[in-house]
This record gives sequence, C-alpha cells and structure tokens, in this order.
Amino acid sequence: MKLKFIGATETVTGSKHLVITEKGAQILLDCGLYQGMGHETNEMNAHLGLNPLHIDAVILSHAHIDHSGNLPYLVRQGFRGKIYCTRATAEVAEILLMDSAHIHEADIYYINKVRERRGQKPLKPMYTEMDVQKTVEMFHPLDYHTDFAINDEISFSFTDAGHILGSAAVNITAKENGKITKLTFTGDIGRYTDMLMKDPEPFPQADYIICESTYGDRLHDKTAAAEMHLLDVVRRTCVEKKGKLIIPAFSLGRTQEIVFVLDKLKNADLLPANLKVFVDSPLSVSATDITRKYVHNLNDNLQEYIKKDPDPFGFQGLVYIQKREDSMRLNEYNHPCIIISASGMMEAGRVKHHIAHNISNPKNTILAVGYCTPSSLGGKLVSGEKNVNIFGENFQVLADVESIHSYSAHGDYEEMLKFLNCQNKKEVKKVFLVHGEQNTKKVWRETLVKEGFGRVEIPVKGEIFEL
Ligand SMILES: [Zn+2]
Repeated sequence: MKLKFIGATETVTGSKHLVITEKGAQILLDCGLYQGMGHETNEMNAHLGLNPLHIDAVILSHAHIDHSGNLPYLVRQGFRGKIYCTRATAEVAEILLMDSAHIHEADIYYINKVRERRGQKPLKPMYTEMDVQKTVEMFHPLDYHTDFAINDEISFSFTDAGHILGSAAVNITAKENGKITKLTFTGDIGRYTDMLMKDPEPFPQADYIICESTYGDRLHDKTAAAEMHLLDVVRRTCVEKKGKLIIPAFSLGRTQEIVFVLDKLKNADLLPANLKVFVDSPLSVSATDITRKYVHNLNDNLQEYIKKDPDPFGFQGLVYIQKREDSMRLNEYNHPCIIISASGMMEAGRVKHHIAHNISNPKNTILAVGYCTPSSLGGKLVSGEKNVNIFGENFQVLADVESIHSYSAHGDYEEMLKFLNCQNKKEVKKVFLVHGEQNTKKVWRETLVKEGFGRVEIPVKGEIFEL
C-alpha cells in the first residue's frame, strides 16, 4: 500500500491524501479546498493533483470545507465512485457545500464584472449548485463503529473525533497479499472540554497514523475562562463603548457554541438587558436544525442542560437572519449589538460586509473565536495589521480586534496527545503530520518523538510513502 500526500501538507487547508493499494485501487481521504491562500488559492484548488477517473472511492472525515470543499470539483472532473461519511456529515456537508457553491458563483460574478470592464473573457465558477447536487447523491452515509468493505483489499470504520457534528477518525484495514496494514487518519481532532461535542474517542491500534497538527505547538485557555472572556468583551464593547461586537464564526459548530454560551449567560442574567444578538447567516438555521436532529451525538452536559432549557440555541433578544435585505438593514442598526456571522476566517460570506462596515469605527470590536490562517483577513487582523484590503478597498483598522483561542474546535497538543495515548506507541511504525503550519509541525514532531512515537514524518506535497 502506498500513501501519497497531496493537500494540507505545507498548509492547514486543502486536506487530501491518497491511498493506493497493491492492486491499484485508489482511495482518497478527504477532498478539501485550500482557503485563504491569497491570489494562489483558486489556482491551487483547480489542480487536484490526481486523476478523478482513477479514484475508486472517497472517505470523508468531516464536513468542514477544507476537508470536503473540493468534492464537487472532483465530481465535475469525472469522479464517479462513492463518498463514504457519517450520517451527520452527509447532512452537514450538503448545506456547507451548497453554501460553498454560492460563494464561488457570487465571487465569479463579481470578478467577471471587473473582467468585462477590462475586455477580458469571463471565468467559470469552480463548481455550481448542480455539481453539489450530483456530489450529494454520491454520499454513502455510515454509522460510527461499523466495519465497511470498499473492496477485497480495503475496509474501514469511523470513530468519533469530537471535532464537529459528524466528525470522525478513519480507521483503515488493508489486506494485501496476506499482509495486513492498519492506517488511521485522525481527520481533525476535537477537545476534551468542548461545550457541545463528545470527547474524541479511542481508536483501534494502528501501524500508521496520519495526524493533524493545527495546534501542535500551543495550549488553549481553559473553557470556563473563555466564557468570562466573552462576557468581558461584550461588556466593554456593548456597554462601555456602546458599539457593535462582530463575531466571525463558522456556521456549524462555532456559531451554536457561541449562541449556547450566550444562552447560558442570558439564563444567568449576565447579559445586558435589551441587548440584541443577531445570527446573520441563512446556513445557521439549517445547521442548528441538523444539530438538534443529532442531539444524541452531543455530550452529556448538553443532555443535562436541555432538561432545564429545551432550546439551548434560542433566547429572548436572539434573532436569526436569513434574508439578505435584513442582513443589510443591520448596517443602519445604531444600537449596541452582537453580530455573529460567517465565515470564521473572514474570507467570505456576510461577515466580510459587516467587517468592512464596522472596522473603521473605534466603538466596535471584532472578536476572532477560531483559527485563522495567517494570510486570511482574520489572520491579518489578529496579527495586528492596521490597514486591510476588503473587496479591493483599503480599510483602516480602528475597531478593537480581540481573540479567544479556546473556542477552537481543534485540540491543543496536550489534547491531541491524550487522543493518541490510546495507542501502543511501539506498534506505531510511523506518524505522518499534516494540516499545520510548518513550524508548528516541527514542534509537534519533537513532542511526539519525546512521547515515544519512534518515527514522525512531515510529508511534502506530492511525496509518496510505501507502507
Ligand atoms: Zn475541521
């Protein structure tokens, strides 16, 4: 069996790893989009680094676009196999991919208007809603902990990775010429203190592990402190400065978590009276519905909370906004408020408009609550840049920019070690580090070696390993 690393090698986005069996079957693990890579992003996404006609199946770890977002393009380019994922992932991926198609179509519309003025030929979007529809029809949802054979060489099962709704580690067993190889792809690893998700669960002993590295060199604040930190930012922004608090957040997961914290603060009478909270994202309504449907996938704390408050994602003063005109009306809303909107890295979606509209007013605060790649708008703001470009226009950063890292859906290195501790390290022949910044991966590798994992590789794009 060979393993080829195609995406998420030098980056935290674009997850895509290829398993090639002795008989030549090709199984793709994830097919994510590169995000926030500046001008090169589209170019990088258009080059799949594989032949879609040669791929037999895809196994999808979870629905985040940096893991699933290039599936419609893969289908558009001729892939005709099955896409295996958990049941919740199938539903979540559908809404996230539809949204991704919207973003591509809207971006292209804007770009083509500029190209038309310059007398250039119009460009086509990478994929459209129709491609997403075709992709969704190829989903083959499976339960956690169920062995499934793709062919006579490869079988696999999903275990809960505790990262987002439906997220899984992929545990592959290859039987080739009498030789058995066990490979686990961690996908993204969640946390042991997540407000909604269950803990990442132990996975079967592996010979090889493809492991994520997002926070391989960092520790998060403790979650209880994060709740108070959020309350502190709300008070300073909405009470003292009488401004708007803009919270860019992923529609699924992060948004429900922030809303849940605000719900708790509201129940404890800690939020300012009459403070409006807007969740400005059509996706969030669907995402919340799916979260409610799979409430049994959420942790015990939430099950307890629901006994007292049956709607942990709704309270007086909270308004979910779907329509674009209602979203635009927020520009004229001149009272202190909280606006939670997507996307998390501030690269796309309605939040970009809210940032453009509010960033040059010192009364306001922009609060990052998740990971932002350094080259994304979110990354630039968090690193303290004083001038940023949004929609081709320069904006002075006068609003406060803050971040709460503990809301990350990714475990820090201690949590990832705890997750990997279910393994007999001596039996693990190699760990491959993906999905992280280069320096982070080097630190993470040192830690893993110190912890007793013998060989830890940092693959480069296109590198092939014989397992
Ligand atoms: Zn993820």
